[in-house]
Amino acid sequence: MLNEEDEYQDIRDAVRQLCQQYGDEYFRQVDADNAYPEAFVEALIEAGWLAAMIPEEYGGAGLGLTVATVIMEEINRAGGNAGAVHGQMYNMGTLLRNGSEEQKQKYLPAIAAGRLRIQSMAVTEPTTGTDTTKIKTTAVKKGDRYVVNGQKVWISRVQHSDLMILLARTTPLAEVKRKSEGMSIFIVDLHDAIDNGLSVRPIANMVNHETNELFFEDLEIPAENLIGEEGRGFRYILDGLNAERTLIAAECIGDGYWFIERARHYANERVVFERPIGQNQGVQFPIAESYIEVEAANLMRFDAARRFDAHQPCGAQANMAKYLAAKASWEAANVCLQTHGGFGFAHEYDIERKFRETRLYQVAPISTNLIFSYVAQHILELPRSF
Ligand SMILES: Cc1cc2nc3c(=O)[nH]c(=O)nc-3n(C[C@H](O)[C@H](O)[C@H](O)COP(=O)(O)OP(=O)(O)OC[C@H]3O[C@@H](n4cnc5c(N)ncnc54)[C@H](O)[C@@H]3O)c2cc1C
Repeated sequence: MLNEEDEYQDIRDAVRQLCQQYGDEYFRQVDADNAYPEAFVEALIEAGWLAAMIPEEYGGAGLGLTVATVIMEEINRAGGNAGAVHGQMYNMGTLLRNGSEEQKQKYLPAIAAGRLRIQSMAVTEPTTGTDTTKIKTTAVKKGDRYVVNGQKVWISRVQHSDLMILLARTTPLAEVKRKSEGMSIFIVDLHDAIDNGLSVRPIANMVNHETNELFFEDLEIPAENLIGEEGRGFRYILDGLNAERTLIAAECIGDGYWFIERARHYANERVVFERPIGQNQGVQFPIAESYIEVEAANLMRFDAARRFDAHQPCGAQANMAKYLAAKASWEAANVCLQTHGGFGFAHEYDIERKFRETRLYQVAPISTNLIFSYVAQHILELPRSF
């Protein structure tokens, strides 16, 4: 064991047990086939793990984000990739915190029972990138419907979800006082929408991650699918993004421990120059350094998750946890690959797969520079750069 048992040990053990049935070979094959880990996701849903955050009154387990992060961490720590499922957790939070009672009654029990998946969230656009308040996708109210036009890019799990949360502008930027006003979020029923105003074009990419370009042409959404108040969507989505960053921090921590465990094991076993390579300080120190960094990131991740669960401001902690964890897992990935020498490049060791997977988190769901910018401007009160 790399660390002591904590209060979540029962949950960890149960998730680990499930993950053992979907081990290295399973994820290696899914990656080679560029496929979705459907059997694994079904098993997680069946066991109730993806409904962890749904309150008991709607059929879920009534647990918070902290536990959700533990579940995601364990998936990655077991060698899997929680990127196939983490959307369900943070999108759930958006619906739970901002949806009407009617919306919660309509969707949450079905999600808890595994009949519906809410895996997708559409924010990013090709021409505006991280400058989210400039999004060009519009939703115009016409009677009892909103009509959506525009384009999104990198929208994940659309082909493996029933519902998607969409951010669109409902009041033109020129007509709002603050640029963060005038955007709204909607629940899109993907079965109704696809080929009926919404087209989906998959993007082939570096990791085995189902992600897509979306094109909206007069897509009609029932007005009742608006979440919360019109014009306040950016505020709602930020809350969801804090949950997303904290969950992904936990996945990076899971990756980090996985890389360290593999590096440690190999450094003890591999004998060159008649001694284990781990006897050389040049090999053992980088592993030790990675371990220190993952452990430190882990503390910030729990701080962020507990603040989120306590409904306290957690933007700073969520961003910093994501930064520290993504950095630590990427450094651990490098160390693990280096420790394995040439064997690190062989598919059967799974290191090159996890190396690619963990690299994503320096860029998505928020790039490192934008975290620096958040901390500089919002916490350190340095002049705004944009
Ligand atoms: C595999 C994958 C899955 C994704 N899934 C989703 C999803 O499900 N839903 C969704 O909405 N989005 C998704 N994304 C999008 C992701 O959130 C964005 O790619 C990410 O936020 C970066 O935005 P961008 O690609 O537009 O980069 P840009 O905003 O174009 O930035 C490019 C680079 O320039 C830097 N940069 C830009 N402006 C500044 C500045 N002012 N100062 C300093 N540096 C700056 C950035 O840090 C970045 O490194 C996904 C992306 C990937 C790759």
